[in-house]
Amino acid sequence: MTTLLGRMQLSSGDITQLPVDAIVNAANRSLLGGGGVDGAIHRAAGPGLLAECRTLGGCETGQAKITRGYRLPARHVIHTVGPIWQGGDGGEPELLAACYRNSLRLAVEYGIRTIAFPAISCGVYGYPLDEAARIAVREVRAFLARDDRVETVYLVCFGGDVREAYERALGQA
Ligand code: ADP
Repeated sequence: MTTLLGRMQLSSGDITQLPVDAIVNAANRSLLGGGGVDGAIHRAAGPGLLAECRTLGGCETGQAKITRGYRLPARHVIHTVGPIWQGGDGGEPELLAACYRNSLRLAVEYGIRTIAFPAISCGVYGYPLDEAARIAVREVRAFLARDDRVETVYLVCFGGDVREAYERALGQA
């Protein structure tokens, strides 16, 4: 199910199935796989993805690195590392915003026109959904307003609670 909002769209379901130019992975700093969306992406992409990730030397929180998509419908995977929620005073909002900004910057560099984000940090990293959704919507909207090279950004909602948080964030903005 997709909700039309122009170039920023909400999409419900499994990000690994989306036929976009790039999907974003909510990875950990090792980039060597994990649970949640990371595990799902590695399972769907196959072993080539892990082999390429081993060459990258990990990734700092808030930064992003790109690989090919292997067996995914998506041509690329952009791996970004969200902050672990520790109460909000450890720079989490700025680090989460940096994940969106750095991923979108890489997308432009690689000529990516369509990109899908999971709700970074909203699983085991424990970021409060409403706050994370507000940051995601704010950063994507600001990026799209100043850059027309990326056509469509999908915010993927895996579960109704995430979707409701995005809808509230869109309603407030
Ligand atoms: P983090 O460690 O950054 O919190 P998680 O993978 O635990 O990452 O969760 C991030 C978000 O991704 C959560 O909202 C989770 O529900 C969602 N998610 C998990 N699997 C998928 C999937 N296959 N497609 C899209 N989103 C997913």
